Amino acid sequence: MTLPVRSQQGERFQGKQISQLQVPSGAQLQQNTSPPTNTPQIPQSPTTEEAPTLTVVLDPAHGGADFGARGPTGLAESDVVLDFARAARIALEAQRLRVLLTREGNQDPTFDARSAMINGLTNAIFISLHVSSSGPVGTLRTYYYLFPSNGTPAVNSAAGAPPQTATAQTSSAQLTHSSLIQWDEAQRSSVDSSRQLAFLVQTVLVQRFKGSPDAPIAAPVRQLRTITAPAIAIEVSSIDVTDAKRLDQMAQPLAEAIGRAVAEFHPLSAPPTTPSGAH
Ligand SMILES: [Zn+2]
Repeated sequence: MTLPVRSQQGERFQGKQISQLQVPSGAQLQQNTSPPTNTPQIPQSPTTEEAPTLTVVLDPAHGGADFGARGPTGLAESDVVLDFARAARIALEAQRLRVLLTREGNQDPTFDARSAMINGLTNAIFISLHVSSSGPVGTLRTYYYLFPSNGTPAVNSAAGAPPQTATAQTSSAQLTHSSLIQWDEAQRSSVDSSRQLAFLVQTVLVQRFKGSPDAPIAAPVRQLRTITAPAIAIEVSSIDVTDAKRLDQMAQPLAEAIGRAVAEFHPLSAPPTTPSGAH
């Protein structure tokens, strides 16, 4: 599986949530048909004020010995998503946003290492990039995290138990005696903002990539759970191509779409604050 979800629960939630999702902010989504108006217009001479620049952490999934999905000609998902991330970085930096990549080359950071890159930041969002093993070429899906027992207290019930990986256990143990939130509960406070971001991204994507679903998908995507900030995953279809150009051609429009959606994103739980009083 190229986009790790929590097995059976993921599939159940995916099927159920698509028709039940509600747009958190219809007014903002309506604006997606026009170019973003809040993009800074003057590229030169950054202000001397400490503007709270948004940081976008782009996560090319897999890497190293983990190729992810493989195409019929040997094309590796891990390489394709790195190209996608590099294109998105150029688009976002052109909007004067700060951009970090969870890997710059063919490394394979752990899930927790990738999450740790953003969990120390304020005013940041996380976008993980995947390529599916199948599906209509030229379509995309956006995911946001759905806790299996959404809305209930953070207890390790049978349904809501976190994935029992060594790293997750270690992290939880380390946090037991502090006031920090539990690693496996990190995403809970950003669920609404992540959903808002996912709707924005999918709304823009479907305009550029016909045949994509209209709404994002709620699923327990492993990578997203341990992130304290708004976090989504974008899955591109698909690696099952004999000509890599079919995916290469998606890099630029995908990058532009991410840029547009990010420019329109204002987290629900933490409205942007600017010391200069900018709007
Ligand atoms: Zn993947």
